[in-house]
Amino acid sequence: MARKFFVGGNWKCNGTTEEVKKIVTTLNEAEVPSHDVVEVVVSPPFVFLTLVKSLLRSDFHVASQNCWVSKGGAFTGEVSAEMLVNLGIPWVIIGHSERRALLNESNEFVGDKVAYALSQGLKVIACIGETLEQRESGSTMAVVAAQTKAIADKVTNWDNVVLAYEPVWAIGTGKVATPAQAQEVHCELRKWLNQNVGADIAASVRIIYGGSVNGANCKELAGQPDVDGFLVGGASLKPEFVDIIKSAT
Ligand code: PEP
Repeated sequence: MARKFFVGGNWKCNGTTEEVKKIVTTLNEAEVPSHDVVEVVVSPPFVFLTLVKSLLRSDFHVASQNCWVSKGGAFTGEVSAEMLVNLGIPWVIIGHSERRALLNESNEFVGDKVAYALSQGLKVIACIGETLEQRESGSTMAVVAAQTKAIADKVTNWDNVVLAYEPVWAIGTGKVATPAQAQEVHCELRKWLNQNVGADIAASVRIIYGGSVNGANCKELAGQPDVDGFLVGGASLKPEFVDIIKSAT
């Protein structure tokens, strides 16, 4: 089954109005493969979501970097899935390793968030990935399987889920996984989905790689059979994000 290449840009907690407008202008002027070939989603901080949505070309979409785990209410500082839907924001990133590590988001909490966001009609980029210590102790697959299981326990329809494999040791470090390392985990994950969720889902769900992807290393990673795209942090704030989008072809 053909899986459309997916490139997400996670802007994290960066940017001023002027900087955000500049990035959008670069994206709007870029010549990239058509939407039939590559799906592009950028994820500005909450406060810039509507601005970016209003300025961004119509073939690119926006994602929130997080949303609350259930219906909104007395949760000071949080933003609910309903609010995102109300603003016409189609995507949300859930379970980024920075939130898992810094805000103590557990596998179960991430699974609940993914399920709730989907139930409200959002599409989800669900992040998983091992730490360096876990990789060095040989538990990479056990860790990503447990993270994926916590999502699979709560989700039945995977049509609107993109799985982002982001080894923590590669995020923001400049230490990218080799194409072989990324392919190995993506392939194992697909096998895990096949055995534990279903053959159709394993074949159709997009598994994208994240962790120090840039304009120079994207092409070789994109050439791996189970790498269906990227979630890009640092480089998504720079013009080289356009080269990463182009690696779809
Ligand atoms: C990320 O934050 O999702 C990410 C992959 O960051 P970077 O590309 O900067 O490693």
